Amino acid sequence: ANTRKYLIAGNWKMNKTAADAEELIKSIVLELGDKNGVGVVVCPPFTSLESSAKVLSEVSNVQLGAQNMHAKPSGAYTGEISAAMLRQLYVSHVILGHSERREYFKETDEEINEKVLAALESNLKPILCVGEKLDEREAGNTLKVVETQLLGGLVNIPTEKAEQVVIAYEPVWAIGTGKTATPEMAQEVHGVIRVLLRDRFGKATGDKIRILYGGSMKPENADGLLAKPDIDGGLIGGASLDAKSFVKLVESAA
Ligand code: PEP
Repeated sequence: ANTRKYLIAGNWKMNKTAADAEELIKSIVLELGDKNGVGVVVCPPFTSLESSAKVLSEVSNVQLGAQNMHAKPSGAYTGEISAAMLRQLYVSHVILGHSERREYFKETDEEINEKVLAALESNLKPILCVGEKLDEREAGNTLKVVETQLLGGLVNIPTEKAEQVVIAYEPVWAIGTGKTATPEMAQEVHGVIRVLLRDRFGKATGDKIRILYGGSMKPENADGLLAKPDIDGGLIGGASLDAKSFVKLVESAA
């Protein structure tokens, strides 16, 4: 990962009530101890952010993320949550453009881009997710799909803010399926993303942006992935719901 600090982020998806979340966060904090050197972010559902923030106010090595937000600062958007609402709950990161949002909620690159811009405006670090579906890979379109999603998500992002952005490459066919991309398959795409980031923001900035891998990452397959030059950490779904597995993944990155 060059000189980039690794980042391990847990995406809890629609799991855990506030009380359950508090328990899991406490277990993670306990398992993790005072280890430093790897960035750690947990992304519980909105309803668990407050209870999680309370636990995390006692520790300095775990940060809080949300799984989505609305691009507008406020207004008549029933059921939505703004960047400012997240900031007030000590949220530092926000997952944007996850494949489940693209698939089930029909989010487009344009909408995701508006959210990325709004997040940066509020000093939230966006974790922008990109990745191809199985049929797109089989048709040989992986790199084209990833490029469109990546550049589409980064429209109008000023270079001076680009370092705040985290990219997550998540092949859709590997999410929640137990099928992981091999380290070589993942590095091929991460390498292309790196080149696109350098083209877009210049070499110095492009080299600072972290690119996470996501898709059935677990302690058994993490070492090979994290050893690759452009894989700077992981976005973890299933394995982030178990404190021991999640902390093992942090240890793999250390
Ligand atoms: C995810 O949804 O971001 C993810 C990577 O899930 P899983 O680890 O369960 O494949």
